[in-house]
Amino acid sequence: MGERQETVISLELEERYSRQILFDGIGPEGQRKLRSASAALVGCGATGSTLASLLARAGVGRMRIIDRDYVESSNLQRQSLFDEADARESLPKAMAAARKLSALNSEIVIEPQVADLTPTNIDALLEGAPLILDGTDNFETRYLINDFAVKNSRTWIYTAAVGSYGLTMNIVPGQTACLACVFPDPPQGMVETCENRGILNSAAHLAASLAATEAIKVLVGAGQQLRRSLLSFDLWSNQRAEVRADQPRLGCRACDRREFPHLGGEGRPHITLCGRNSVQIHERHRPVDLARMSQLLKPHGTVRYNDFVLKFWREPYEMTLFPDGRAIIKGTTDTAVARSLYARYIGN
Ligand SMILES: [Zn+2]
Repeated sequence: MGERQETVISLELEERYSRQILFDGIGPEGQRKLRSASAALVGCGATGSTLASLLARAGVGRMRIIDRDYVESSNLQRQSLFDEADARESLPKAMAAARKLSALNSEIVIEPQVADLTPTNIDALLEGAPLILDGTDNFETRYLINDFAVKNSRTWIYTAAVGSYGLTMNIVPGQTACLACVFPDPPQGMVETCENRGILNSAAHLAASLAATEAIKVLVGAGQQLRRSLLSFDLWSNQRAEVRADQPRLGCRACDRREFPHLGGEGRPHITLCGRNSVQIHERHRPVDLARMSQLLKPHGTVRYNDFVLKFWREPYEMTLFPDGRAIIKGTTDTAVARSLYARYIGN
């Protein structure tokens, strides 16, 4: 009886994945590897939704999904795992994603984690994940992931999209360049974000599709097929670029000098609670042009500014921004929410 049931299940599995098993690069052996594989996804927005959905449908056995945000209606244009009911209920993205993914594939295990990835919890949250996928929207978290991955020899895949532009790079510590090899320092000054520059859903989905394919290569053991470059594209202007990243850079602080300042919290804005219902973000290295920022924020709420300060109201929050990048966010005492709002509207 048990044996018979076993046969039925494995036939169902074969049917479910039959088109993928027919593909030479995967085959039955690759499919078995996917079933016992695990990965962690940090951030489940536009690129994260697509990554998670493709990998769940492909049969990756276990996925941990870490996200600090809640679903909003402005997400629905591109974040393909969420629907109007999720936005109405303001569900945490990790929970909404887990629900949707389990409905897409009940044979895999999804571990949702509603959390802000920080130097304090990164060891626990990424524990046991041989592959880390980047679905984040900010450099602060990416440099943190990069330090963790290089230090612990874990493969991670950098993926980003804004406007009509997307890019992705595979980081295999010891073999390829890392994020700090290519960009030694996080960008300074104003950074483009989906909120201040907008985004085409197709750009995010393409970047994530490329990354998901690379993830599958890693998980089925087709490492020799991995792309070893930073690939970028602009879908609106039809431009494409590829920068070689096939070996660690001599002198890289992470790969070569083994310095991991982001794991110690360096490079993160210092955040303090201030007053009864507000949080202060002490940025010192992000000069902001208040006139330009006011133009970018206008579509998202009410903005007023002078030479010294900019005020931005978006229910239920009020943000006060200073020219040196410091901000006070009223309407929350949750530092993760404040960090997320800052990353979204001001950039980081
Ligand atoms: Zn490096």
